[in-house]
Amino acid sequence: MEFDLHTHTSQGSACSRMVIEDLVQAACEKKLDGVCITDHDYCWDERELAKLMRASGIQVYGGVELSTAFGEILIYGVHQSLLHLRDNLPKLVQLVRDLGGVMIAAHPLRSDFLFSTLTREERGLDPINLEEIGRRPLFSFVHTFEVCNGRSSWQEIRAARQLSLLLNKKGTGGSDAHSKLSVGSCVTIFEEPVQNEAHLITQLRQGCFKAKKKEESRNVLGM
Ligand SMILES: [Zn+2]
Ligand SMILES: [Zn+2]
Repeated sequence: MEFDLHTHTSQGSACSRMVIEDLVQAACEKKLDGVCITDHDYCWDERELAKLMRASGIQVYGGVELSTAFGEILIYGVHQSLLHLRDNLPKLVQLVRDLGGVMIAAHPLRSDFLFSTLTREERGLDPINLEEIGRRPLFSFVHTFEVCNGRSSWQEIRAARQLSLLLNKKGTGGSDAHSKLSVGSCVTIFEEPVQNEAHLITQLRQGCFKAKKKEESRNVLGM
């Protein structure tokens, strides 16, 4: 079953140009089985999402992309504001655990690649040291991290895949779509058919999935 775990709508993210109805329609057109809306620090009304789910026939769940001092973190299974804990990761981890959620670092190598399609060597930078990166505190707070992000370059995705092997973690995939065109460009494929939100989170916690980059986005920003 294919899910796009990372998307943004204009209602919850000022940077997006896509209303939620268009997002769900695009997910249906791309034959996805489900989509998670992960607006920046914004909590969707579950009843509204349930309505969309019934009308569309695909699974629609609300998560959040929380900005923290250690980087952006995708959080699923928690339906309340977490903004007050963005600077206190130990407490955030505790609350998410208590509420049965899951935490996934979004595009954890973004600061090392900065959206560039050039290699680091071409930009005059030292090659990245994945062992050093793997020791960053962020990775001790999250269950896993995103390896395929629709706005990342191939170099960034390749390095994230290598990091997932090094840390022995399955990485997720999500388009990070801000417009209809990019929905489904990267997905997470679950081993078992996802029954409901709780089952999605169980599989994410247990690592029963793989990430896939499906198609080349229009450009590296996925616009
Ligand atoms: Zn992000
Ligand atoms: Zn995002």
